[in-house]
Amino acid sequence: MVSLYIHIPFCKKACHYCDFHFSTSLKHKDDMLAAIKKEIILRKDELGESLSSVYFGGGTPSLLSRNEISSLLSTVKDTFDLEHDIELTLEANPDDLTQEKVDELAQVGINRLSIGVQTTDDESLRQLNRAHDLATADAAIRRVRAAGFDNISLDLMFALPHQELSSVARDLDRFLHWQPEHISCYGLTIEKGTAFGNWYQKGMLEVPEEELAAQQFLYIMDRLAEADYEGYEISNFARAGYRSRHNSGYWRGVHYLGVGPSAHSYDGKSRSFNIANNTRYIRGIASGEPLREKEELSTIDQLNEYILLSLRRIEGLDLRELERRFGWRLNAYQKQRLSSWTADGLVKWNDELVYLTKAGRLVADSLIGELFVEEMPED
Ligand code: SF4
Repeated sequence: MVSLYIHIPFCKKACHYCDFHFSTSLKHKDDMLAAIKKEIILRKDELGESLSSVYFGGGTPSLLSRNEISSLLSTVKDTFDLEHDIELTLEANPDDLTQEKVDELAQVGINRLSIGVQTTDDESLRQLNRAHDLATADAAIRRVRAAGFDNISLDLMFALPHQELSSVARDLDRFLHWQPEHISCYGLTIEKGTAFGNWYQKGMLEVPEEELAAQQFLYIMDRLAEADYEGYEISNFARAGYRSRHNSGYWRGVHYLGVGPSAHSYDGKSRSFNIANNTRYIRGIASGEPLREKEELSTIDQLNEYILLSLRRIEGLDLRELERRFGWRLNAYQKQRLSSWTADGLVKWNDELVYLTKAGRLVADSLIGELFVEEMPED
């Protein structure tokens, strides 16, 4: 079971919070798509099995035409064996989902759409510099359903500037009304180099205090649980049978190949990162030498990654597997932290499993960071 990620580095306009790699100029689109196809072929031997998922992310893959998506998919099909029930996800922005585009996506075989709704509050959408409003999102989701898409994921953001709990509640009302199979949910983070980052630094942007953001996330977890969405990963909620196969692979350590500028790949022992620059990426591929950095993962890196990814998932950290794979048993410090967090209601654990409670999920990063291993014992 392996996966392919295809990064489409173009967007209509820059959202004020976004630090992903993209360009708002489509000037090099043709060269870029040719380079991505060439990279798929150049790196085909890095994946030894059939693909169980392909994910078009970005950027904004829904900017591509039917022919462009279909030609990328043809290269994928000519290069790899695909599992018969492969998950083919494409990230789409609501403003791109015209009737024509929705029909085209269905015709080329995309079977899962991840739609960047983010919020249903028009004022917040303007502030985020998104290219859609609530009416556009609503119309897009209706079209997508009418065209037969029965596996859609909606992105929801919280902790937005000036956002009160009541506004998150309205977002949840509308999201649940659309009945998506999956919801990915992220608190706004202020990133350096973005418009929000600059405004924040100058004191021109107010975001909810940590306590309000935590209250909003707790509220989201409760509402989604009541509506039968399983929080199978800290930021991801799905109806039964609709977990994202592609992203679940990342969290379970499945090998994947990422093509396109800024895309990452993972082969179990190392991680590589394509250059996040469109022109240099295209040149590198043309020379037959994709520009990327590679990082070999030490046993400690792999162990810590396993701890991180496991604790983010509903299944939790399997201590027997930790020992089987890495020869690692919890040390005295880890046990002491876990006992103290158990008393605080942040984790549950026994000899076999550790997992975060709802309260623990709110402070997951700091808990997980404290469990990281710094040194392996000498043999
Ligand atoms: S559309 Fe997506 S990738 Fe593009 S700027 Fe906005 S958030 Fe970033």
